[in-house]
Amino acid sequence: MLSQNQIDVLEHIVANEAEFITDLAKNNGINNPKDSVGIAEFIIGDPENFSQMSDKQVYHYENAIKPLISRVPCEGMIGEQGSCLGNDFIDEDSLLEAYLARDMRCQHCISTKESWFANNP
Ligand SMILES: [Zn+2]
Repeated sequence: MLSQNQIDVLEHIVANEAEFITDLAKNNGINNPKDSVGIAEFIIGDPENFSQMSDKQVYHYENAIKPLISRVPCEGMIGEQGSCLGNDFIDEDSLLEAYLARDMRCQHCISTKESWFANNP
């Protein structure tokens, strides 16, 4: 079952950034990346659908959808791996904002960098 935050993020991705899903599908060897988008639409169409996915749909979900909405890695305070000040993942409740801002960092990294610049003009 997805959280409301994850559903909101998935709605945003399907509506505006569907290539995130198709790119991920291609990278993970899925032959029909458009089907992955269809399955994302199926999931957001009704949250109950999540528990009613076929094996094939779960395969698409695991490989082309879940990595975009669950345990999404933080890019780090200075955009380098290993420079994250949090737990290396973006919190689910910050995730939609991260996609909207195209700034894939966790709240710890964003707020620390902002205060660093405020103190070091
Ligand atoms: Zn971080």
